[in-house]
Amino acid sequence: MNKIINKNPCIICVAITGSVPTKNNNPNIPISINEQIESTQQAFEAGASIVHCHVRNDDGSVSSDPIKFKKLKDGITKFCPGMIIQFSTGGRSGSGRERGYMLPHCPDMASLTVGSNNFPNRVYENSPELIDWLSSEMIRYNIIPEIEAFDLSHIFQASQLFNHNRIKGKPYIQFVMGVKNAMPADRKVFEFYVETVKRLMPSANWCAAGIGKYQKIINEWSIELGGHTRTGMEDNIRISKDQLASSNAQLVSLTKEICSKYDRPVANWKEARKILDIPLRT
Ligand SMILES: [Zn+2]
Repeated sequence: MNKIINKNPCIICVAITGSVPTKNNNPNIPISINEQIESTQQAFEAGASIVHCHVRNDDGSVSSDPIKFKKLKDGITKFCPGMIIQFSTGGRSGSGRERGYMLPHCPDMASLTVGSNNFPNRVYENSPELIDWLSSEMIRYNIIPEIEAFDLSHIFQASQLFNHNRIKGKPYIQFVMGVKNAMPADRKVFEFYVETVKRLMPSANWCAAGIGKYQKIINEWSIELGGHTRTGMEDNIRISKDQLASSNAQLVSLTKEICSKYDRPVANWKEARKILDIPLRT
């Protein structure tokens, strides 16, 4: 791939909690709603303009409770005005349609995985019926999906959905790399993903997330090639092999440093909303 000289603003998404890491893994991971709101505010002030949200029970176990999602959304709206709020409909916190029962609370965005693949210890199952239902709910509540591409076929699925008007607005595709038993962080594949998105969906924006030790390198590849990127403690709890991250904001600051290295300005929330065509809800 020819190196793209693209100095467009880079949107940083922060995935604050996820479903997997616990306080035993890193005591700084936000679990309660109040901790999540505080962590998001710090990350927002550090430069993140999208927050990707999961919710947990107080003991740290996974939850898909719509009331918790609503409380988190209300807190983030209050303390991070303008920030784009994205709910996860991922498969680790619920099963079947339970994964979308929080969508009536109308986040700006929601994640949408459009195919199945393996996770470290199980199959990540996304049936056509479930994908169809989740995408319909997103259209119904005026929610922009972030398509999670764990595999090349998921990019083709995204394009099918887009061509059949099953996605509202401009497509936004996120490549996820480095999940054990799914797609590794491979530079040639990454470049092919970028080319394929541009070929199939020229109006699409793209971003990428790397898991664990691959977070930083995927941040770097995305920023270098003109895309947007995701960081945060859902994906990675360390800033180096031997040192735990002190906060989500610290990971956002490290991502900002990579943006400076490649002369990419960091998008503020207004720029991010313009790029993704997501107006503030009134
Ligand atoms: Zn997630």
